Amino acid sequence: MTADHILGQLPFAAPGRFWRGNMHMHSTRSDGAHGVAEACAAYAREGYDFVAMTDHFLPQYDYPITDTRACRTDRFVTLAGAELHQGRLSNGELWHITAVGLPWNFAAPTEDETAAEICTRATEAGAFLAFAHPGWFALTPEDTRTLPMVHAVEVYNHGTETGQMRGDGWYLTDMVLNEGRRLTAVANDDMHRLGLGFGGGWTMVKADVLTPEAVLAALHAGQFYASQGPVIHDIRIEDDMMVVDCSPVVTAALVGSRARRIAGQITEIATRVRLPLAQATEGYMRLILRDRHGRHAWTNPVWLD
Ligand SMILES: [Zn+2]
Ligand SMILES: [Zn+2]
Repeated sequence: MTADHILGQLPFAAPGRFWRGNMHMHSTRSDGAHGVAEACAAYAREGYDFVAMTDHFLPQYDYPITDTRACRTDRFVTLAGAELHQGRLSNGELWHITAVGLPWNFAAPTEDETAAEICTRATEAGAFLAFAHPGWFALTPEDTRTLPMVHAVEVYNHGTETGQMRGDGWYLTDMVLNEGRRLTAVANDDMHRLGLGFGGGWTMVKADVLTPEAVLAALHAGQFYASQGPVIHDIRIEDDMMVVDCSPVVTAALVGSRARRIAGQITEIATRVRLPLAQATEGYMRLILRDRHGRHAWTNPVWLD
């Protein structure tokens, strides 16, 4: 396992800088409480660099691809998006899949378009797809196998966490990763109202420039990590150790496939953590940080083959 093989799968050694984004939110075009301008302005004020409005792509809302282009500034960009709902899970629930980077004229589905068909149509149009809030509607590995074109899992959904305490998506992600599927991990707000469910989960995307095209390319390239608070400044490899520079954290764990913990340690409040890589030999590993408020940051899985 070479350092280049590990670092090449993480964004930290890549050129550019990190841009903070929320890729799951709703406006008055579907069931959100706020208009487009008000919602985007709130994220810009909160220090976000980009958002994707993902209104529910349903007939009762006339299949919106909500136009956010008027909210763009020199320092804030928007991507076209939607939350797709064609077809149902094995438990009977409607699918919820966020699609970011859709064309603004993405066509409404025909009545009988399946989940696989609309997801294929979205990916062929260039969009980045994520299984939304798996914990909220009990998504299973079997369900995920029916949509092999989806790129990522929403490993943290702040809206379903603050509302129903079911915001976690890692339970599902680890099971699917253990099947060998190379999914990445995003965190989002699923904002419907600028209250408790706002500004609690985001994705840090690394790109040279802040444009919708650069952000979308970085998403497809896996150049990002997910966070509820902690900032990861850098990850590098020194003498068979992973060295992490970060905002103050109290716990760091490098977890592996199945139940195997590659390395973990409880630290005093630390801004540099060293984790041994000696057991990183097969499957995947991923880094989790936690700060003293219980907020996490998560890297994407790093594959060890
Ligand atoms: Zn949803
Ligand atoms: Zn939603």
